[in-house]
Amino acid sequence: MFKTAIAGSLPKPNWLAETEKLWPEWKFDGDELLQAKADATLLWIKAQEDAGLDVIGDGEMARQHFVHGFVEHVEGIDFDNKVTMGIRNNRYDAQVPQVVAPLRLKGRIHEFEARIARAHTKKKLKFTLPGPMTIVDTVADRYYGDKVKMAMAFAELLNQEALALQADGVDIIQFDEPAFNVYMDEAADWGVAALERACQGLTCTTAVHICYGYGIEANNKWKETLGHEWRQYEKVFPALAKSNIDQVSLECMHSHVPMDMMKLLEGKDVMVGVIDVASDRVETPEEIAETIGQALQYVSKDHLIACTNCGMAPMNRDIAEAKLKALAEGAKLASERFG
Ligand code: ZN
Repeated sequence: MFKTAIAGSLPKPNWLAETEKLWPEWKFDGDELLQAKADATLLWIKAQEDAGLDVIGDGEMARQHFVHGFVEHVEGIDFDNKVTMGIRNNRYDAQVPQVVAPLRLKGRIHEFEARIARAHTKKKLKFTLPGPMTIVDTVADRYYGDKVKMAMAFAELLNQEALALQADGVDIIQFDEPAFNVYMDEAADWGVAALERACQGLTCTTAVHICYGYGIEANNKWKETLGHEWRQYEKVFPALAKSNIDQVSLECMHSHVPMDMMKLLEGKDVMVGVIDVASDRVETPEEIAETIGQALQYVSKDHLIACTNCGMAPMNRDIAEAKLKALAEGAKLASERFG
């Protein structure tokens, strides 16, 4: 009864790229790299199906990083001369490309892996794209001089790719917006509007993933400063409730997010994070079912999707695979208990 899905990314196998890194180096180039990306995509589709998940993703095997995987195919960006910039309100430094001219797509961005994924699963296929606000926070602007203007320019490009992914047979297009939990006022002011621009004309299901980031040290330290109750979602959820986005995620497992935040999302499908990506301990089905049970106080049965808190890209591969199985087993147990 309770559907299951992952946030998006999965660990890259060690023959494809460096492991347990946010910006891993590829192990091959050219056609060999394409083949390795295709193989890794198939491997994770199989693993998700074997685990028993309902919604399948490509695991983001074909992109180095969830934002730069999109940006590197955009004209007007100097990807060769990256600069160091503090991102997510200076939480950590990253090597980011520079926007130096008007933005335009060089061509299709994710056609290769979307088509492979579509050809190899009959289940619902979800595909992730970075959200406009998070992109703006992960590139250096040397051209637009205006965050909102640049976000809208990216939103237009995202929309072009999203429409093409829909034509490729993708069922759910999800935009990842961790920046919404960092710049809460701006997210409500223009972040959601930029997201809606990116979704314009889509008839497939649309989703937004908002989180407290990957389980990396900088994020874990940041979370320690957020106090006892994490209320970041409180500002943006009402704006999202009024938007045309169908599904919204939030972190639950081992998180300090008050569960009643879900009440702000009435009418939306809620992707409830029941898998902690910042811990290597694999959740038990019992714990997951319990978290789903608690979430049911605030979200109706038909709107609850059991999900991971965030992507699992920097995790150990075996642990990630065990967590996929736990997710499916926990949701099954919850279905038996609360169905
Ligand atoms: Zn995330």
